[in-house]
Amino acid sequence: VSRRPFIAGNWKMHKTTGEARALASAIVAGLASEGIDVLVAPPYTALTTVADALRGSRVALGAQDVHWERQGAYTGAISVPMLKDAGCTHVIVGHSERRELFGETDEAVARKTRAAIDGGLVPIVCVGETLVEREQARTMEVVEREVERALRALSPAEASAIVLAYEPMWAIGTGCAATPEQAQEVHRAIRRFVARSHGDDVSSALRILYGGSVKPDNMRSLMAQPDVDGALVGGACLEAASFLGIVQASGAA
Ligand code: PEP
Repeated sequence: VSRRPFIAGNWKMHKTTGEARALASAIVAGLASEGIDVLVAPPYTALTTVADALRGSRVALGAQDVHWERQGAYTGAISVPMLKDAGCTHVIVGHSERRELFGETDEAVARKTRAAIDGGLVPIVCVGETLVEREQARTMEVVEREVERALRALSPAEASAIVLAYEPMWAIGTGCAATPEQAQEVHRAIRRFVARSHGDDVSSALRILYGGSVKPDNMRSLMAQPDVDGALVGGACLEAASFLGIVQASGAA
């Protein structure tokens, strides 16, 4: 099965609209590699600006989070229709920072995943263990629980259209990426788990991204792993050169 490589940049709480326009334009201008899906996820306030800068390019636009309700009295929240209106095709759901810093539960992640699919956005669902959980040899248990909760209510067709991101929390923003072997071990386990829950076809079509201190230098060896289909990039996506370097490295595997 050939799964198209997918490189997504999560800008987190960075970039004013002016900075966002400059970065998006530089990515569009520098993008050479064909055959790779590329996405940027700026903060909400820069979505329409970045949508404008990406127009006519093949770079997709995603948001970093979403609420499951379509509208209502949810101060500070943003809905699926609002994100679509701003030009988004994708949304990151369940990022570890949302889980850790904002108390997001597996149930909330499942509701957001459902809402995204129902509203026509592709969810990029993040899972991953803490350092303590890894040291306690609970990585697979934690990751499988998160995958199971997020995918439980999805039909096979729905499950094969989402994107999963395995992001070990000890590797995020630390400069200490998982080794290619560590990433492959978990990606393979996730794929086997999805084969059991949703069938072989879903499992082999499902794209699983690795996230956690991905840089142009380590992308190639991660991408060489059979079950790694791309990356969710944090720090290294804030400058066009390093993000484009990662995109390029992902195509050369
Ligand atoms: C992330 O937060 O999704 C991430 C992978 O961050 P970083 O690349 O900075 O480790």
